[in-house]
Amino acid sequence: MLTPEKEHKCTLMSDVHFQCCTSFQLHLPFALPADGKCRHPGCGALLDPYGMHARQCKKGGAIQRCHNAMRDELRKVAEEASGHGVTYEQQIPFGPEGSEGAPSNDVLDLNSIDLFGRNVYIDAETKLAHSADASLSRHRAAKAGAAAATGEHEKRRRYPHLNLVPAVWEAHGRAGDSLVAFVRALHAKAPEEERPHLLSSAWQRLSSTLQRWNAEIILSAYAAPA
Ligand SMILES: [Zn+2]
Repeated sequence: MLTPEKEHKCTLMSDVHFQCCTSFQLHLPFALPADGKCRHPGCGALLDPYGMHARQCKKGGAIQRCHNAMRDELRKVAEEASGHGVTYEQQIPFGPEGSEGAPSNDVLDLNSIDLFGRNVYIDAETKLAHSADASLSRHRAAKAGAAAATGEHEKRRRYPHLNLVPAVWEAHGRAGDSLVAFVRALHAKAPEEERPHLLSSAWQRLSSTLQRWNAEIILSAYAAPA
């Protein structure tokens, strides 16, 4: 299996990752293993040719590692752009909806200070627009960004009492509106002549991290056993 952790130092991709991501983006079929089953440890579900099961399969931990990589890259982008420290995994001060004031064990990914000096929580997620529910897939296919918007809405509904940035990416690469606004705001105080380059660089880093992990998740699901 490839080891993307060692390759996350820059925005370059290996040829294998690039080919895999291109196939995923273009909906080209992957070669199935002889038995057609997902190779993620502990899974064994039947694979489809287009990476749809693989990209949602939570067995084996690849999805979690993808989440952590996106969280880590967003943290670095936020610290470099804002100059504020960004801390990991903050327990939220109150419970979710319906239990305001109660202790909570919920932990959100990142915590920092926003442009106005307020405490802000950031919670990352990648969401596949494809669904086993055909009507939901059709809805998302007809409206760009619908899956990311759903992810944002779910997080805001769960934590209505927090100054929250739902940092949601669709698996094919589209960022949710809240995330786009957040990254733009991070660079609001940058010199005007430098801002386009800084924004472009931030998105390139975030996008290449997501695409490398798309490839890793898919390759590890289809790979022949060692
Ligand atoms: Zn699986």
